[in-house]
Amino acid sequence: MPRDPYDVLAVPRDASEQQIKKSFRRLATELHPDVNPDDPQAEERFKEAAAAYEILSDSERRATFDRYGHDGLRAGGYAPNFDTFGSIGDLFNAFFGEAGGFGADGFGARAGRGGGGDVAATVDIDLHEAATGATAKVRYEVVERCDVCHGNGAEPGTPIETCDRCGGSGQLQMVTRTPFGQMVRTGPCDLCQGQGRVPRSPCKQCQGHGRRAVKRELDVDVPAGIADGQRIRIGSQGHAAGPGGAAGDLYVLVRVRDDERFVREGQDLITVLDVPAPTAALGAELEVPTLDGTTKIQVPAGTQPGEVLTVRNLGMPALGRARHGHLRVVLNVVIPRNLTHEQRELAERLRDTLTDDNLLGEESMFAKLRRTLRHHQAA
Ligand SMILES: [Zn+2]
Ligand SMILES: [Zn+2]
Repeated sequence: MPRDPYDVLAVPRDASEQQIKKSFRRLATELHPDVNPDDPQAEERFKEAAAAYEILSDSERRATFDRYGHDGLRAGGYAPNFDTFGSIGDLFNAFFGEAGGFGADGFGARAGRGGGGDVAATVDIDLHEAATGATAKVRYEVVERCDVCHGNGAEPGTPIETCDRCGGSGQLQMVTRTPFGQMVRTGPCDLCQGQGRVPRSPCKQCQGHGRRAVKRELDVDVPAGIADGQRIRIGSQGHAAGPGGAAGDLYVLVRVRDDERFVREGQDLITVLDVPAPTAALGAELEVPTLDGTTKIQVPAGTQPGEVLTVRNLGMPALGRARHGHLRVVLNVVIPRNLTHEQRELAERLRDTLTDDNLLGEESMFAKLRRTLRHHQAA
């Protein structure tokens, strides 16, 4: 069970959005990979803080957590999606734009690097869509260049001057306290956000940031054969960059909803089919569900519980290839219950006529089990 996010961020339960943001920012700075190279504990703590922040920074999620705890969030389909990010560096990208960019606006100043930060978003599809491919709507928040000042942060027609705090270099020496002592590192100037220059009259539309957060909606092509937890990269749909830089990328995490009929194993699909015991003894043609309908399978006479029939090429497609997996049908032989008087007589007649020839055949799952048990007793 994950820890209480309020405890993780060390904020009271009635903390304001500002308090939560501030606390997360402080923790994130402390656990920065530059400060803690190769410290897996710092990385774990950052992930924990990021997960807590993801819950508490979203009013809907926070309300769900307040009322129902982690179970409520899970029941609502929420799962922290950090595990699919390769490294803590990627995590920083996801939260702050580029690594190290702790901009005053909360969206990661560019630190004079030019490129815009990457953005992570999530999309949910069902298994059928994963098999056929789909166009999915992705909604996410992204920082765009301000269209009034064209990103330079100055009210149109007003001058931009050299920053006094950093003398125009855009960089400042910063001292960070860590459990291992003080670390000095160079970071972007917080006054000019690493640009080295500040507008005399900040643009009114964007308060001088040159960028602003907007909600964006995008149709994303999800390729056939995608698996739960895979990410799709969409170039240039991430955060806008500083003047002259290229926008970051959008990474869409694909979640494939569970399908109660199938379990997916690689490209194969597995389903369970109930077969009445007399049908298993006699053999029959039966219908099984497929992803887009049903198909018929031949259940041979004398089928034993747990036997598996394979229907070729009715599994999932392989990503980017024409080859399909198979549909594996596990046969669940069902013994009839609540027999009527007549059925009982029939069953008794069948029982009385059974010989070894009926009962000893190829070794069944249970015969194997019995042999194993005997073997253990003998040992
Ligand atoms: Zn502006
Ligand atoms: Zn500066």
